[in-house]
Amino acid sequence: MMKLIFERSVPGRRMSLFPECDVEECLPEVPMREAPPRLPEVSENELDRHYTALAREARGLNDGFYPLGSCTMKHNPLLNERMAALEGFTGVHPLQPAETVTGCTEVIDTLEKYLKTITGMDRVTFQPAAGSQGEFTGLLLIRAYHEARGEGERNEILIPDSAHGTNPASAAMAGYRVVELVSDENGMIDLEDLRQKAGPKTAGLMLTNPNTVGIFDTHIREITAIVHDAGGLCYYDGANLNAVIGLVRPGDIGFDVTHLNLHKTFSTPHGGGGPGAGPVACKSFLAEYLPGLRAVRGEAGSSDTWQYVREKHSIGNMTGFYGNFLILVRALCYLESLGRDGVPELAHNAVLNA
Ligand SMILES: *Cc1c(COP(=O)(O)O)cnc(C)c1O
Repeated sequence: MMKLIFERSVPGRRMSLFPECDVEECLPEVPMREAPPRLPEVSENELDRHYTALAREARGLNDGFYPLGSCTMKHNPLLNERMAALEGFTGVHPLQPAETVTGCTEVIDTLEKYLKTITGMDRVTFQPAAGSQGEFTGLLLIRAYHEARGEGERNEILIPDSAHGTNPASAAMAGYRVVELVSDENGMIDLEDLRQKAGPKTAGLMLTNPNTVGIFDTHIREITAIVHDAGGLCYYDGANLNAVIGLVRPGDIGFDVTHLNLHKTFSTPHGGGGPGAGPVACKSFLAEYLPGLRAVRGEAGSSDTWQYVREKHSIGNMTGFYGNFLILVRALCYLESLGRDGVPELAHNAVLNA
């Protein structure tokens, strides 16, 4: 077992020695920390060796077979890393006037267009910083929708027993009661059970297809129709999109809202605890509740009059500004290099590999 950096700490050990402070204290009114923060105290060599050893623990394509589950991106081309490192992307500030960052707004705009095509949805927010936060966002949209229609008493979310753990967790965080759906002997949702549990209390259904055991539920249109007939909405957990991207669109099989994990399906390395992105795509009737700001072009045809706007009944902010922007750059670069024919080919290869 590796030691934590804190366990290597020895009081008084230092890397750089700062010169004595020769600036007069000028913030006497500001509340000051009474004790120094607890930071690891190590030498420069130890620090360097510690993180080099940690990096060697990371497993990736370069070391061999990559054994994560149904969801995970298998290919993180270095080209995308290089594009995300370009200074025009890394050197901008989210408070810059829109007309000084038109290249970045173009990235967001173009990626939104592609993701709408891929999901069969009408609008996208890039704010959520993870799939799980996308789930939470989507559920808040569903909640806002029912409340606006005077149906706030709908307080149940239907979730299959095969679901990823984040689904019931997000539903509970959004204030919902989780109703578990049982699977049949083929690992698909038991339709009879669903019919019994869908009703006037149903706010929605959350599921991923193929599900977490890797089975594509072939009754999916029937499932979403049952939920809609009961007055609920359908949330597609897009974490497993790898298997169906370019072949099946959640928007075409009855789903109203979905998240995508850009750090799974769209080439940002996943699993290292680094930043993620879980954009949420929805049908137009949910768009008025979307979080955050979005950049829109002003006059038709004039690309230099961008404006930031907030939706009328926005649920607020899920993160600051536009989410983890450099992950959007990687996703766009990935899609541009795959092209229209490359996207379904990606799905076929992912299934074959799995
Ligand atoms: C990974 C995953 C999630 C959660 O996504 P995070 O980005 O890790 O928060 C949700 N559902 C499924 C099926 C997943 O595989």
